[in-house]
Order: sequence, then structure tokens, then C-alpha cells
Amino acid sequence: MSILSTIEKCLDNAEQLNGELNSFLKIERNYALNRAAELENNGEEQSLKGTAIAVKDNICTKFSQTSCGSRILGGYRPQYNATAVERLLKAGAVVVGKTNMDEFAMGSSNENSAFGAVKNPWDVTRVPGGSSGGSAVAVASGVVRASLGSETGGSVRQPASFCGVVGLKPTYGRISRFGLVAFASSLDQIGIFGQTSKDIADVLSAVAGRDKNDATSADVQVPNYAEELSKDITGKRIGVPRALFGAGLDDEVRGAVEAAIDNYKNLGAEIVDVALPHSKYSIAVYYIIATAEASSNLARFDGVRYGFRAGDAHGLREMYMRTREEGFGAEVKRRIMLGTYVLSSGYYDAYYAKAQKVRTLLKQDFLDAFERCDAVLTPTAPTVAFKIGEKTDDPLAMYLSDIYTASANLAGVPGISVPCGLSKDGLPIGLQIVGRHWSEATLLNLANAYENEFPLGAKPVFSVG
Ligand code: GLN
Repeated sequence: MSILSTIEKCLDNAEQLNGELNSFLKIERNYALNRAAELENNGEEQSLKGTAIAVKDNICTKFSQTSCGSRILGGYRPQYNATAVERLLKAGAVVVGKTNMDEFAMGSSNENSAFGAVKNPWDVTRVPGGSSGGSAVAVASGVVRASLGSETGGSVRQPASFCGVVGLKPTYGRISRFGLVAFASSLDQIGIFGQTSKDIADVLSAVAGRDKNDATSADVQVPNYAEELSKDITGKRIGVPRALFGAGLDDEVRGAVEAAIDNYKNLGAEIVDVALPHSKYSIAVYYIIATAEASSNLARFDGVRYGFRAGDAHGLREMYMRTREEGFGAEVKRRIMLGTYVLSSGYYDAYYAKAQKVRTLLKQDFLDAFERCDAVLTPTAPTVAFKIGEKTDDPLAMYLSDIYTASANLAGVPGISVPCGLSKDGLPIGLQIVGRHWSEATLLNLANAYENEFPLGAKPVFSVG
């Protein structure tokens, strides 16, 4: 098929499924068709030539909106492309649209979008996970092979697990954050969804690497990830922190992950015990650090510089207040308040400074574990996709969705979620593999081995073809 007809088909599928799934906030038909026609004729060899990719709506695109799922940025169009987008385009990809998300990437269910919840294509009464739910669903429903999401505490891995696709959070500094709208800058990282690890490897090879526009992007060589995918995994040491398989973990998820551990053993991996003793503090630490940074990052949305401004205000102060009151949703306001509180002078040492110390211990846990193994295996999330509305009145229950993922963001290490089975209700279960800094190639290799030998063997109810 020509690039043009492939992209046209992809756009038709996106439009057709969006009524039910709401995974795209904007489908860029004209832009994508023009781009496809251009690529068809450019005669260049490019690694992602003609590949349709969906991009989360908190990653800046000058050819489309960047709303962050928020009223306060509704219709906002940036003046520049994020570096990751710029590199995708340079590699010949076609960005077909911007995907729905929890407002400012705050959430675990995609119910916090100002533009409506995203539905899980395996069961539309359930959430797809969050905050990158739209990007996960665009891949799970077969509209695109790969998409960009963002991760602060699990927002790629957790929805990948709920939607039955592969999701990678790279090492902090692996992909430039230039043009990724900041939520919590010391944790944020662009992540990638793929139908397979190969899709992720191809996209990662294109977007990773040092960028002069992001001082936290690292000058670490970018391997050709696809070449390392199918190496033999015999002798790889996989660490299992059994102590984390306790309370709160759904029995079916535990069963599937235990089976996956046996499967890895049969594939030649060596299973070793590890302890991550401070992991139990990860949610508490995460919600102090993430909200503290968010309260500061979100101060820039004041009705002057970007997007929405409340009308009829008397004076500057009232304009600020009304813009933020009307522009932000409930969860964002909750986080700004929490973050402001933990940073306030009387509480800074008790909360923020303490959390930073525990963060160091969490990181040390991983470094200690990696003395004994090449990667650590856990469930990605404690449950399968839950019902829409089930946790909206209980923020703490919602926050616990990230119990297995947040520690990798706090430590800056990479993690991947791979489908490892279906529940008796036919819902996907994900296993997570976390590795050393810069070990994305190892994670993709381990994920690829699993996918090839133990494919999910089922498709969502709502999907292409
Ligand atoms: N669910 C977590 C939160 O609500 C993580 C979000 C993310 O990774 N962007 O903050």
C-alpha cells in the first residue's frame, strides 16, 4: 500500500472508533494527508517513513493543538514542536492526531480529562488507565502501531497494562523533555507505546539522545534498539521482590505474574530474590514530590501567557483567580493545594525535605538490587482495568494504582510493561520489568522474548479490522 492510502486508512479508523473510545482529542486529517503525499515523493530513506504515530496532547506540536486535556489550554497552539516530535518527523513519521489524557497528566484512569473520559477498548465500561490513556487506546485499538505518551509516576506503563499493549518509560534524560508540558520536572519523561517491542525500539531509536534544548537530556550514546531485540535471554538474571506481592494485589494478577516468572525461567532466565525495602513509601514520596513540583510548574497558567482567560474580571488579581478557578479541574486544584502545602515554610522540612531523603533510599534500593540481577520483575498494576466511576470519589484508592510504577520515576530508572495474560473477564494483565539506568535495550530484549513465546492471542472488542 502507498503511504497515502495507509495514512488515509488510519485516519478513517481513528475517526470511526473515536465516537466510542474518545482516544483522540484532535485527528489531523488534512495535515496528515498532505504530509503523506510529501513523503511519498521525497525519495529519501527514513527509518519511520510513512509510519502513523499518535501523540499525547501535552507534547507540543505547531501543526496541531496542545491542550493537556485542560480547559485552561483549550485550543492552544504552540509555536514550536517538541524535540521528540521534531525527531519523529525527521525520521519520516506521520503524526495523525493528538490524544486524550488526564488533565496535565494527573490521574490513573483518564477520567480527569476536561474533554471526557477515554474508554477501554476491551470493555467500554472500564477505564483505559491514565494519564496517557488516549495514546494507549490508539495503539490497543489498532489505529496506530506506536504512540507517544508521558510518564511522571506510571502513566505509560499502567495504561499499557490495562489495554494489553507494550509501554516503555525510558531512563530519565533518555528522551528530551523540550516541548513536553511540565507536570513534575524531576520525574517527567516522554514514554512510548507499541503493539510490540519492535515498534517501541524503532521509535526510541529515532527520538532518544541529547538535545541542547533540554539540559537534563543526557549525552549517552543511543544504540540501535531494534538490533538488540532478539538476542538470546539465557542467563539473564531477573530479580523478584516477593515482599511486594502482598496486600492489595489482585489474585488473578498475582497468578498471571507468577506464571510469567515461570515462563521466563523456561526461556532460560535465572530468577533471583531481591528486596526493595523502601518501595512501600513510594506512593507517599511520589505524591509529595510530584505535587510540590506541579504547584510550581502550573503557576505559569495565569490567563496572560497561554490559552484561556476568564472574562469580566475587575483587576489583575481577580483575573488570575477566576482564570485558574474556571480553567483547572478538581484534581489539578487538589494537587496545587497539596503541593503548595508541602512546600510552605512550616512544613517544608517535615514533608518535602523528608520525601527527598526517602527518594534517595528508593534509588539506592534499585542500585542494590541491580548488584544481584539485570532487571526486576513485578506486576505493572495491582488490578486489571477498573470500572469507570469506581474510584473517582476516592483519590487515595486511585493513587494506589501506581504502587508498582512510581518508584522507577523516583529513581530515574527505565521500566516496561508487557502483556502477560487475560483475566477471566477477558481483561489484559501486564508485567513490569525495571532495569538499570540506560538499559532500555535489555528491557526491550526481555519484553520481545516474552511477546514472541507467549502472545496474548486475543484482540479488544473495539479494534480495527
Ligand atoms: N497516576 C499518577 C498521577 O496521577 C502518575 C501520572 C503520570 O505518570 N503522569 O500522578
